[in-house]
Amino acid sequence: MTTGRIIGEGMLPADAGLVVMNVTSVCFLAQYIRTGIPLVAKTITVDGGAVQDPKVVVAPLGTSFKDIFEFCGGFKSEPRKILMGGPMMGINVYDLNAPLLKNNNAVLAFDENQMVPNEEQPCIRCGRCTRNCPFHLMPVNIYKAYGEENVEKLQELKVNLCMECGCCSYVCPAKRHLVTTNKLAKKLLREKGGRK
Ligand code: SF4
Ligand code: SF4
Repeated sequence: MTTGRIIGEGMLPADAGLVVMNVTSVCFLAQYIRTGIPLVAKTITVDGGAVQDPKVVVAPLGTSFKDIFEFCGGFKSEPRKILMGGPMMGINVYDLNAPLLKNNNAVLAFDENQMVPNEEQPCIRCGRCTRNCPFHLMPVNIYKAYGEENVEKLQELKVNLCMECGCCSYVCPAKRHLVTTNKLAKKLLREKGGRK
């Protein structure tokens, strides 16, 4: 809307000659131009029911998540799940020795009250995933097409439009791993050379 340029299905902003930046990146860029100091630290949110003293911290890149949590008082209960990123789009952290990277904005440690076990159950064809998708994609059908490695069907279902927001997985009563499957389906299309 700002530039009037359209980023087509399967394209990246750079393909349309655009750079999309969040406020933190713009702020860093201004700082870099002023001082010449590269990105050496990140401001991140440390939160979740398992964290003793949740807070926003500034930490050098490469700091382990273990040290970051310890700075926040450690864990008051055993975390059930640790995510790098937000609750909808975050990625699992399996090793607390993993380092803080320049694209990390948050690290969350959920306790057992916040993180109920989510084993996949059979789809009940309720349609909630499609009704709640901002693009009206059909995650349930994408899931099936991916399982069959049906590249043509995945293209037809426009999986490349998926922005991995996580809404479909969040609303699914059967706890299907829909957004993860969409990511894998997009990877499959890239490997097969299809962008659409
Ligand atoms: S929301 Fe879950 S259970 Fe409902 S149709 Fe979609 S995949 Fe199936
Ligand atoms: S993750 Fe993709 S398919 Fe699921 S709701 Fe978001 S855009 Fe739609």
